[in-house]
Amino acid sequence: MQLRIPGPTPCPDDVLKAVGRQMINHRGKAFAEMTNRIVPRLQECFQTKNDLVILTTAGTGGLESAVVNMLSPKDKVLGVSIGYFGDRFADCASIYGAEVIPLKYAWGQAANPDDIRKALKENPAIKAVLVTHNETSTGTTNPLKEIAKVAKEFDKLILVDAVSSMSSIDLPVDAWGLDVVVTGSQKGWMVPPGLAFVSISEKAWKAHAEAKMPRFYFDYSRAKKFAADGQTPWTPAVSIYFGLDVALDMMLKEGLQNIFARHTRIANKARAWVKSKGLKLVPEEKFASNTVTAVHAPEDIDETKFRSILRTEYKVEIAGGQGAMKGKAFRIGHLGFITDKDMDEITVAMDQALLKAKR
Ligand SMILES: *Cc1c(COP(=O)(O)O)cnc(C)c1O
Repeated sequence: MQLRIPGPTPCPDDVLKAVGRQMINHRGKAFAEMTNRIVPRLQECFQTKNDLVILTTAGTGGLESAVVNMLSPKDKVLGVSIGYFGDRFADCASIYGAEVIPLKYAWGQAANPDDIRKALKENPAIKAVLVTHNETSTGTTNPLKEIAKVAKEFDKLILVDAVSSMSSIDLPVDAWGLDVVVTGSQKGWMVPPGLAFVSISEKAWKAHAEAKMPRFYFDYSRAKKFAADGQTPWTPAVSIYFGLDVALDMMLKEGLQNIFARHTRIANKARAWVKSKGLKLVPEEKFASNTVTAVHAPEDIDETKFRSILRTEYKVEIAGGQGAMKGKAFRIGHLGFITDKDMDEITVAMDQALLKAKR
């Protein structure tokens, strides 16, 4: 089966073998040594010297951790949203009592840094900018470097959902001055779901010291205190650590730049296929994502049938549209453990399934 949804993504055999290993004591030496191997390599992938914590949770837990550790109830935040996950991040902040000033775009659009500048000018009390790097629902990558520049101009915190981009798309945390950056293990990391990785800048630690939202499980101070001993405050998903230890070896052997180039190459193949069929990408091509390709389902194709034929007859599973795009689009996940050959096979299968799914 080619599981080509934007997470969970397939895992290499060596990672699966590692995940199946016998348990070890999470307060023992072997676990601490493993953590101390993993964290610096994660920092290398994040291109950061910032502190990095590993949380046992879904990507959304990582986003929630950013909210509760950085903000106080009634804080004003700019909730930049270009789709489903941008809305989720803003909703989370709002539920914890932040005053979210929404900056919403039509699905398929990318955020415009000038709009952010305008919003920050109009609302000097805004404390933080919440933004998605790669919007998985629409296959759109925001111009994060430019957005971060604007946030820095106004000396605002910038909290980033990089769940479906970190490790697959170039995202230099320190060079771009990003304060809190969140990703999830089941997207570009070639390991199963269960862990979130979060980088925390010095500016973010200062905000954390003053932030009053309630927090316990996700408290960064507790995480940092235990991390000094290579531990976590609570029992971690030990099996995913085993897998990650192996996956990071594979990733750094390939080299970050080579990983980014592979994702670009494979995404270009996906986009070339879309064009060759006369189909339309959901985003403007300039902002099209290198980890997920979202495509408008044409009128004469039964989108559900297309995916079902792909899955049952060709053993390729892709994702449907999300939220407002349900039934109207399909999404090809091409992140993490994927080769050029995989994408060639997928496009051949899609050629056939498309013919069979004609209304
Ligand atoms: C998958 C995803 C999430 C949510 O991750 P979960 O692990 O499902 O909670 C958040 N943001 C983006 C951009 C994602 O792609």
